[in-house]
Amino acid sequence: MTFRTRFAPSPTGPLHLGHAYSALLAHDMAQAERGTFLLRIEDIDRSRARDSWEAQIYDDLGWLGMTWPAPVMRQSDRQAAYDAALDALWSRGLLYPCTCTRADIAAATSAPQEGAPLLGPDGLIYPGTCRGMSDCTGPRPKDAALRLNMHKAVAGMGVLSFEETGCSAATYRINAADLVTTVGDVVLARRDMGTSYHLSVVLDDAAQKITCVVRGQDLFEATHIHLVLQRLFDLPTPRYHHHRLIRDDQGRRLAKRDDARAISLYRHEGIDPQKLRLIVGL
Ligand code: GLU
Ligand code: ZN
Repeated sequence: MTFRTRFAPSPTGPLHLGHAYSALLAHDMAQAERGTFLLRIEDIDRSRARDSWEAQIYDDLGWLGMTWPAPVMRQSDRQAAYDAALDALWSRGLLYPCTCTRADIAAATSAPQEGAPLLGPDGLIYPGTCRGMSDCTGPRPKDAALRLNMHKAVAGMGVLSFEETGCSAATYRINAADLVTTVGDVVLARRDMGTSYHLSVVLDDAAQKITCVVRGQDLFEATHIHLVLQRLFDLPTPRYHHHRLIRDDQGRRLAKRDDARAISLYRHEGIDPQKLRLIVGL
């Protein structure tokens, strides 16, 4: 199978050193394997995505010496695929509407059962308040968030596994049933977006025939959710390469708002792409 990987930034701010590392690593791996490097614009969050940030992404990556085939997949063009997938899950009875606010969830989880994990890949593990509250027949509601009923979703899945070649190379095996407590009922369609990172990333990686997902270690736990979705949609599980995170001088990982580490600033300071590679340890 020919190697295909991707870099999937969100155009919601400047690319920083962490993005440069991730993109260059994926690009280098594709070159070494004589494979393909794809770019995907993850712009489902319409309230934060800006055309100017997208333009800056192309500019910065080009400056770093990267090339990618056109056309570039943009998640904002993919709503029909997301809707079809949500309809399929809805008709299988695996989704339910949730109207809880963040404050509702925080209040409901403030008195946890002893030993129950509180935090999953998406933050507080949903306490299940809205589960079983609506009869989920009829058309799929569009005016509420939709959560995956994890208990139903993982029934009969047994063991899920994936190949990891990044930080801790190994074959990982997880008991699907454990995700009921370690992940819980994650949101697959946000009310304001009509989709979610988890749903879109799984469908898009499959649509782009990605064989190796290169991304930061911070998404390692999210991969568990992605394995469940791949199984539900009968999609192949790619290999994963979760890489180390680039940290600032205080050892904190860089965030989007870390404009001080923006690639564009290094460019303006006259640093060349080769030097930038050295800065991120490539
Ligand atoms: N848009 C996501 C991010 O910026 C991509 C994550 C992924 O590669 O799966 O973190
Ligand atoms: Zn709810």
